[in-house]
Amino acid sequence: MRRMKKWSLVLVFWLIYLPEAYCWGFFAHQQINYHAVFLLPPEMMVFYKKQLLFLSEHAVDPDKRRYMVAEEGPRHFIDIDRYGKFPYKSLPREWKDAVAVYSEDTLRQHGIVPWWIQTMLFRLTAAFKAKDGPRILKLSAEIGHYIADAHVPLHASSNHNGQLTGQHGIHGFWESRLPEMLAGKEWDYFIGKAEYIDNPLQFIWNRVLESAAAADTVLKVEYQLSRSFPSDQKYAFEERNGVLVRQYSTNYSLRYYEQLNQMPGRRMQQSIYAVASFWYTAWVNAGQPDLKTLINTQFTEADQKDFETLDQQWKDGKIKGKDCN
Ligand SMILES: [Zn+2]
Repeated sequence: MRRMKKWSLVLVFWLIYLPEAYCWGFFAHQQINYHAVFLLPPEMMVFYKKQLLFLSEHAVDPDKRRYMVAEEGPRHFIDIDRYGKFPYKSLPREWKDAVAVYSEDTLRQHGIVPWWIQTMLFRLTAAFKAKDGPRILKLSAEIGHYIADAHVPLHASSNHNGQLTGQHGIHGFWESRLPEMLAGKEWDYFIGKAEYIDNPLQFIWNRVLESAAAADTVLKVEYQLSRSFPSDQKYAFEERNGVLVRQYSTNYSLRYYEQLNQMPGRRMQQSIYAVASFWYTAWVNAGQPDLKTLINTQFTEADQKDFETLDQQWKDGKIKGKDCN
């Protein structure tokens, strides 16, 4: 009996902390990359569609890399409220101007997601120019991750997990619990077509500012709801991926979602559109190379080994450097 009690305590601890280890949740990241493929023009679709599994599976590689490399963490978020008040005019949007005002150390400490996406776009464009199939796929999967993270309100706030307002767990609630509950049923993915982005830096900054503006709502609405909702019904043991876990109850989650005016669903759609449009923009800027010749792209043994190492480190390890939670 005593042994059972001990185990159930361990289990509850694990259940409470596990979902918070992810950004946008693994499920949502995989869905975003997957659905982005269907927004592409036929010349790109011919290559990307064959790689749907790879693109969705590897959408989470950047989160896994946080277990290997300390520099990885800041690429996933920006604590933009560290730079004054909305719309944070004192923070230059260009990297070199921002470094001149705040120093590289400070910028890295508070997160660099809008700038990192530009680096990734540059690399993806170069991979298209070189017609390097494996590199195009790896970079496409990974830029999709960072773009999606930039759409999450709590990735643009220093109160990323409600730690400053007694709302611990809200990070995983918004970006894992709600998508896992609703994405398959409530949200549709008929979003239109990928479009060329004239100014990718400005595009991402707009999305980051939207995220920052929404972060207040995400926190405030949950704060108020938790005060009006019966406290013994806020959490429940319910099924997650076939396992019974203690999590925000279905009723509480649905009420929260309704009070947010379906914001997570909208943000997920916007992420899908943005990911497809960045892929498309890189391809256009590279001169629209013919991708039909890359259809049979295979990864080398060295690539496969890298993927395995990444996976193993994630399974065994601890997050290195600053976490987005
Ligand atoms: Zn992330």
